[in-house]
Amino acid sequence: MMKLLLIGPPGAGKGTQASKLSEVFGIPAISTGDIFRANVKNETPLGLEAKSYMDRGAYVPDDLTNKLVRDRLQNPDCVNGFLLDGYPRTADQVNELADILRETDSALDAVIQLTADTDEVVRRLAKRAIDQGRSDDTEDVIRNRMAIYEDQTAPLISLYAARGLLIMVDGLGEIDEVTSRIVEALNAKNQS
Ligand code: AMP
Repeated sequence: MMKLLLIGPPGAGKGTQASKLSEVFGIPAISTGDIFRANVKNETPLGLEAKSYMDRGAYVPDDLTNKLVRDRLQNPDCVNGFLLDGYPRTADQVNELADILRETDSALDAVIQLTADTDEVVRRLAKRAIDQGRSDDTEDVIRNRMAIYEDQTAPLISLYAARGLLIMVDGLGEIDEVTSRIVEALNAKNQS
């Protein structure tokens, strides 16, 4: 049973590490960004609403995002735990997640903060724009997404640190090397 959060700036490698950790721990990796992108692609009402925010690098409003996560966590595949990638990102989302966990009488095991150097992040995102053609990976939008992360999401991390849940891991390096760092840090935390 593992309930994990993965937090970090755009381009830190959250999505890649989320799928690795999902395999290691046998839990679903739930990425709000992926769910929004799938909805945009399928032109669902949620996708149509989310797109205007995503295209300019802004956060999708909390009420939409919270509802999506609340519904997703009720899926039976979450009984053995989950890894949330990219949620919560605002104070309101932190509160909503706390409510959801309280209602199900459960708690987080750890919050993984993936750190990355800004220049490296910009380089990675520019590469991803070419490889994947994401409409929110242009330079202006990248800058906006990073500024919003620093302004709204980075300050939330201290709340989890104060509760003794935080693990900080350097996201630079080979993919498997970073996964090993995370797994070792989680093991060390569980033994402490
Ligand atoms: P990501 O793939 O995690 O970088 O997310 C891509 C975009 O989806 C973000 O720039 C936001 O527009 C939107 N998004 C993803 N997760 C959230 C969230 N927790 N709260 C608000 N917007 C989100």
